[in-house]
Amino acid sequence: MTRAVATLAVSERTFREIADKLRAAGYQHLFMSDGSIDMYGIALAAAPRPVGPVCTCLTNQLGPHYCEVHAA
Ligand SMILES: [Zn+2]
Repeated sequence: MTRAVATLAVSERTFREIADKLRAAGYQHLFMSDGSIDMYGIALAAAPRPVGPVCTCLTNQLGPHYCEVHAA
C-alpha cells in the first residue's frame, strides 16, 4: 500500500539538524530513496532557548570570529 506525502522544504541547516537527530535515535528507516524524510507520526517542537552562549562556529557561515563562545 502506498501513501501520498506532502513535502515541506526547509533550510539545509534545519534539515541537517533533524536528520542528524533522527539518525542518532535509530530512525534510518524514515529516509526515503530521494533523501527526504517521511516524518509520519513525528511531531516537531521548539526546544527551549539555551541558557548560555551557543557555539555557532559550524553554522554561522561567517567563521569563529562571530561565534558567541569562541570570538575573542
Ligand atoms: Zn564556536
